[in-house]
Amino acid sequence: METSIQTNVEVDLKAIQANAKAIKARTGGQLIAVVKADAYGHGAIAVTKELHTIADMFAVATVAEGIELREAGIRKPILILFSPLPDLAEEIVAYDLTPAIDNFTLALRLNKVLDDKHLQLQLAGKKKVKVHVDVNTGMNRSGVRYTEAAAFLRKLKTLPNLEVEGIFTHFATAHQTDNSFAHLQLNRFSCVLANIPNIPMTHAANSAAALAIPESHLDAVRPGLSLYGIYPANEKPIQLQPALMWKARVGWIDFIEQGEGVSYGLVYKASSRTRVAGIQVGFGDGYPRALSGIGEVLIDGKRRSIIGRICMDMLVVQLEPSDNVAVGDEVVLIGKQGSEEITIYEVAARANTIPYRILTSIAKRVNRIYS
Ligand SMILES: *Cc1c(COP(=O)(O)O)cnc(C)c1O
Repeated sequence: METSIQTNVEVDLKAIQANAKAIKARTGGQLIAVVKADAYGHGAIAVTKELHTIADMFAVATVAEGIELREAGIRKPILILFSPLPDLAEEIVAYDLTPAIDNFTLALRLNKVLDDKHLQLQLAGKKKVKVHVDVNTGMNRSGVRYTEAAAFLRKLKTLPNLEVEGIFTHFATAHQTDNSFAHLQLNRFSCVLANIPNIPMTHAANSAAALAIPESHLDAVRPGLSLYGIYPANEKPIQLQPALMWKARVGWIDFIEQGEGVSYGLVYKASSRTRVAGIQVGFGDGYPRALSGIGEVLIDGKRRSIIGRICMDMLVVQLEPSDNVAVGDEVVLIGKQGSEEITIYEVAARANTIPYRILTSIAKRVNRIYS
């Protein structure tokens, strides 16, 4: 660990690769690796490069995220999961991105971009923009309503510069034990597919469905969370390896006297003379402030409690007088140390949130180290 670095995330790219292979082995079809939100905090460029030969396509949430990958030299197809605003049509074409589409305004704009002779020259013979139609089967946040999808597809057919490469839907409840609503969504989607000409890539499954609902696998699956070794539900039908550890360092050690308080508001009060350590990580790094007074970290292979309010750049833990700890020592926030482990499930549950939120909150200033 470099001494200048106070908190860092260690990402095991081989674990991500192994997870991708395990998911592909289970689902059989194509893999659309979801790397939105900087690959759930793991670093989209590094993850995408690692999965370049395993994934058939990458998926991000925004055009800006897609452009970042193109500028990093990624050549594989990149799906934009949410129908972009029509103003972004030129960038979509210029960067060879594959947008989800759920409205005709975007379709017209994309079609027009390729009619523009000037741009056509720059695009060196590119003839059509590929799109994936987003079908709303019950998630109700985006997409063309399933009852209107066939008509929308017929309308898209009138635009000569568009090619419908894919059609997809997204589950609202696939992570729940009761799969009845997911099956209803799948039935609605199947009815759409039965009433339209064949489209090369049909897809529906997020991680939860990829792991638990084989009928949802279709031509491709779209896992995110599980690629990073995290299960979306309690069931563990395949073996996944967590890919991320979050570490910090001890910055200060001292004794405080009985009755003294700790950190902003002095909400923690020492009931007797207490040995404490300041750890150089805080909510400015994305560590949940909700863990004030209730979280734990690993120091010297043991669980130690966070006391007082978590600050922007520091938090304080209670030590035992006998703890063998010095300034600069490693502190584990998520991961293993010795025989102890703090999982992301534990951190998320204590902070009253979900692993997705913990991962995507880890700040930019937290250095990512790859192995
Ligand atoms: C985020 C997202 C996924 C991946 O979901 P996970 O639960 O992380 O596997 C798949 N599809 C869409 C449309 C998404 O927004």
